[in-house]
Amino acid sequence: MAFQDVIGHNTVVNLLKRALVNQRVNHAYLFVGPEGVGKELIAVQFAKAINCLKDTDDSCGGCRSCRKFASGNHPDFQIIRPAENSIGIEEIRALQKDMVYKPYESSRKIYIIDDAEMMTPEGANSLLKTLEEPPEYAVLILITAQKDSILPTLISRCQLIQFSKLSQEELRTFLQNQSTDVEDLKLEEILQLAEGSIGQAFKLLEDGQIWDDRKLLLDFLFKLGDKTNLEIYELLQNLNLGKDLRQWDRLLRIVKTFYRDLMILKTMDEPDLVINRSYFADMQQIKSQYSGEDLEKVIKLIERTNNVIMTNVDRELAFEVMLHKIKARRM
Ligand SMILES: [Zn+2]
Repeated sequence: MAFQDVIGHNTVVNLLKRALVNQRVNHAYLFVGPEGVGKELIAVQFAKAINCLKDTDDSCGGCRSCRKFASGNHPDFQIIRPAENSIGIEEIRALQKDMVYKPYESSRKIYIIDDAEMMTPEGANSLLKTLEEPPEYAVLILITAQKDSILPTLISRCQLIQFSKLSQEELRTFLQNQSTDVEDLKLEEILQLAEGSIGQAFKLLEDGQIWDDRKLLLDFLFKLGDKTNLEIYELLQNLNLGKDLRQWDRLLRIVKTFYRDLMILKTMDEPDLVINRSYFADMQQIKSQYSGEDLEKVIKLIERTNNVIMTNVDRELAFEVMLHKIKARRM
């Protein structure tokens, strides 16, 4: 894996390559952009290329440094990630202690801090001191999907590298490279559901649980009008929910896409815009059960429920209440 294997992000990759060729690699970068588009992957490729013994604009894959990257134990490279949802002062101090020593065998010592918004205020302030006077051999790459949560003084010390979502075509190329035996229909659905995120697309490709949950949920929504209170309660027990907020977010999005698709079929004649392609025929059949106004209200209710669930409260109860309200058309 090297820059040449990266899909999309041409502007970012070219910018980093130019820095390599011109030998103007900075001490600090902040990679900003949506979750799951490949920021960490590109940061690692950049680190590899910086320390590659062949001085080009990419890593060679064959030199001693590249081989150590590939085996996951390069002595001058580290990725720091949140432990238990934060990066505290201890982690930053450990990084600083390590940074005092010159590189063991490369020109640079490179540190990636993933989910940098998870740094505690103490951690961030401590890191700021490092960024004010970094050793000449140090390179820090901070990665975040939430720039607003990063200390502004930290941001001002970093070169900002902005990532955007991948296009449908780039995602399609990625998926086709990953796996050749995905059926066309499933591939289309993944592209629709992944919203430009390689991370999401990959998860959708690899994780059968999501498809099981989705099937359970969509089959249920088709018959929501006939479901009893107990059945609604049991649905929540059968879904693979837990403490992971992303899982809640994913399931709520599935619910939202269902009603959004009905809305599209109801109000426009645009089958290409339907996300849940494999349910197309069934949706055509039940779309008359809802008015356009109902569907608009349902979608707003789902958005409100998503906000509630993302903040705190009893998530299962909020999800259940939402289903009851949709069933009773009391949005
Ligand atoms: Zn190399």
